[in-house]
Amino acid sequence: MKLFGIEIDGRSREEIFKDIVKRIDSSQRVFVVTANAVIMLKVKENPKYRKAVESADLVVPDGSGIVLVSKLKGKRISKYPGVELARDLVSEGSKKKWKFYLLGARERVVSKLAKDLKQRGVNVCGYHHGYFDGKGPVEEISEKKPDIILVAMGVPKQELWIYENMEKFRKGLFIGVGGTFDVMAGFKKRAPKWMVKAGLEWLYRIFQDPKRWKVLFRLFRFFIYALLDRG
Ligand code: UDP
Repeated sequence: MKLFGIEIDGRSREEIFKDIVKRIDSSQRVFVVTANAVIMLKVKENPKYRKAVESADLVVPDGSGIVLVSKLKGKRISKYPGVELARDLVSEGSKKKWKFYLLGARERVVSKLAKDLKQRGVNVCGYHHGYFDGKGPVEEISEKKPDIILVAMGVPKQELWIYENMEKFRKGLFIGVGGTFDVMAGFKKRAPKWMVKAGLEWLYRIFQDPKRWKVLFRLFRFFIYALLDRG
């Protein structure tokens, strides 16, 4: 399905995951965007961010807003939340001994996650918090050549960082995963299953962090633009 000129992957999550695994196994350099309403609104309103998302190899539907819009437009796509994709990558990667690099979140969050994953047998070759000035750990990543670089710095920072630095790396799957590190390291809870199923994860996140209420305006703007959009 095309939304605001961006092709959103309409395959099943199994097919998407298989494709991603194939690309990692063949040492390709890949940029994956996990698109939700906030990301798509940024695409619509920010030309630089649009360029970043346009340069992605895969745009996976992460949010219920996108799935709902596709349904209203008569197209069926299934949701593949970034936090679940990240978990699938970690679980497949621990079997295949892929090398992971964790970039983003606060120091205490990312260091705890790195430690936890290593204890579970995941090959974490390095990590860095997401509050740096300048270009961040580009040289370290170039040297260590990880297979997967999980970038958890929020929107738009994570996709812009990948877009601006991607050319400097030979290989690796680069994926923006938002607040996933806080959830994986146990600092924040994910919404209960029934809320995820009902497509209400965004509401749970507002309860968790009331400062997020402004996101409602963004969701509203996204729906207006999306329903008027002709692809
Ligand atoms: N974050 C970061 N650097 C920044 C801003 C945010 O590493 O400059 C991290 C933050 O600690 C959190 C994640 O990015 O772990 C997601 O942040 P937020 O919830 O604000 O973004 P969203 O999920 O709304 O994209």
